[in-house]
Amino acid sequence: MVQDVSFDVLDNNGNPVQVGAWRFAGEGQGLKVHLQAGVHADEIAGMLVLHLLMQRLKAAQAQGRIKGSVTVVPQANPFGIGQFCQGRIVGRYHDASGQNFNRGFDQSAARERPSTNVQQWQKKLVQLAAPADVMLDLHTDDEALPYLYVNRAFWPRGRDLAAAMKMDVAIIWDDGEDGSFEETIIAPWLRDGSADRHMAATLELRGQGDVSDRLAEQDAEGLYAWLCAYGVIDDAVTPSDWPVEAVEMGHMETILAPQPGVLIFEKELGDVVEQGQRFARILQRPGDPASEVVLHAEQTGRLVTRYRDRLIGQGMGVAKFTGTRQSRNWSGGLLDPN
Ligand SMILES: [Zn+2]
Repeated sequence: MVQDVSFDVLDNNGNPVQVGAWRFAGEGQGLKVHLQAGVHADEIAGMLVLHLLMQRLKAAQAQGRIKGSVTVVPQANPFGIGQFCQGRIVGRYHDASGQNFNRGFDQSAARERPSTNVQQWQKKLVQLAAPADVMLDLHTDDEALPYLYVNRAFWPRGRDLAAAMKMDVAIIWDDGEDGSFEETIIAPWLRDGSADRHMAATLELRGQGDVSDRLAEQDAEGLYAWLCAYGVIDDAVTPSDWPVEAVEMGHMETILAPQPGVLIFEKELGDVVEQGQRFARILQRPGDPASEVVLHAEQTGRLVTRYRDRLIGQGMGVAKFTGTRQSRNWSGGLLDPN
């Protein structure tokens, strides 16, 4: 039987709303896995991936193939999915309080009585995931290659996961202080030295518009194959091999917009751009050629993410590139994880 582990939280009006969660448990004492998507609400791809994966898990459970348990939360954020502005979903931040949905999980979990409804939701989500041995958090970027965020404690083991998901890049990080969901879940493992018996990662499933049957089926298949290879499911499915470029977080180059204006990219996602080579322009005042600024690559690397809209504000992130030496703009911490 599939176990319904859904829970209620209170919306902005104090009315209960449900966060759907399901657990596929086997008979044995295998690994406990927690999979979730949509913490930021406007990152849709993972929702469909987990929806499809749940059909596979149901079949695997019926055949007695699941050794431990797999808990799936395919749409983790009940607040953000209702936030629309001029017809477009606006996730990431809670409109009513301004809080980034994926920050402060650590503080919410530590509170005996969380005060806001977002804190209450965060605490319940952490409680659901805390007993897991494996936690995968599915996100998307603006426009992006598929890539993995993984703490060094889970590398190089994380390469198998990235390869199974046909991810081009794995970004390896050391320290975060934002209280993201992933940081909050892995903090006790890092503290007690049990990281080698655990696994956690943030999966960036391309860009916000990359929702399709083809990609979702490929990603669900990749996740299923990895779960088999990791020993969670007893099924003869072999994960694909795939070239994964591992990049230190501090080597990533984030290019910010020096001025607002019309954004014109000259390079595509995945392109390797040489140091100093141009990759985009920003035209501040159409009609005035002198108002155009050309953007160049800081160091040679691959174009991993791009700003989604084609009119950009000053200071917004235009693009992120891989790199092979420390970025001169690197100041520690996380890379504005999406
Ligand atoms: Zn996100």
